[in-house]
Amino acid sequence: MIIAANFKANHTRESTAAYLEALNLFLDACPTSCDVRVYPSASSFLRADLYSHVKLGAQNFYPVINGAYTGETSSQHLDEFGIKNVLIGHSERRVILNETQDITAKKYAFAKERGWEIIYCIGEPKYIRDNGFEAVMEYLWSEFEGIDIDYEKFSVAYEPIWAIGTGVSAKIQDIAEVLDALKKRFATAPLLYGGSVKVENLSSILSIRSCSGVLIGNAALDAANFCKLIQTAQNVQK
Ligand code: PEP
Repeated sequence: MIIAANFKANHTRESTAAYLEALNLFLDACPTSCDVRVYPSASSFLRADLYSHVKLGAQNFYPVINGAYTGETSSQHLDEFGIKNVLIGHSERRVILNETQDITAKKYAFAKERGWEIIYCIGEPKYIRDNGFEAVMEYLWSEFEGIDIDYEKFSVAYEPIWAIGTGVSAKIQDIAEVLDALKKRFATAPLLYGGSVKVENLSSILSIRSCSGVLIGNAALDAANFCKLIQTAQNVQK
């Protein structure tokens, strides 16, 4: 099971280091079978090999080794920290930062070429959800345009846009319906859910047959709470 924390534009380098230290200590004392991942902001990257129980990842990168791309994070920057885990296609990048499917697919191809582990995010806006399951799936399939779904180091995070950061998670039945449909096409890729996951709803989400993990924003910002989430996940029998 993958339990991933997305810091977005939260935490400083100092608080990220304190968080990771606390998390690693916790996992040392309470071993878990979960694949625990943390995605800090680029200005808080730390050496990935410092934390034996946690995989450090990048929330974003620009698909170049280096060069004249003002303000961007290149693969050289990730390599310096030994980071080989990335998020691609998060709705905050697609919607707020206007990233197109074309650039998203370019990032995916670049990450694949380097053998990085990818959590590929997809999710529909509310007006599409309001049109029902068929409309949701049509929207979600369009977010796979240009994506090599046979890449063995890729997971999918289904994150309905309207459920992210709102405190209102999608209904269990709706999550299950989408993940089951994805499962038919991606037999081996782990399928995650994201969108207002918290301690209170984690067990029922992870109990969904096709669900292999979660991507968590707000509820993972506090290290102690993230440890609670990991412990809760550990207790879910699959
Ligand atoms: C996310 O950032 O991917 C996310 C799901 O955020 P939150 O848990 O805050 O809804």
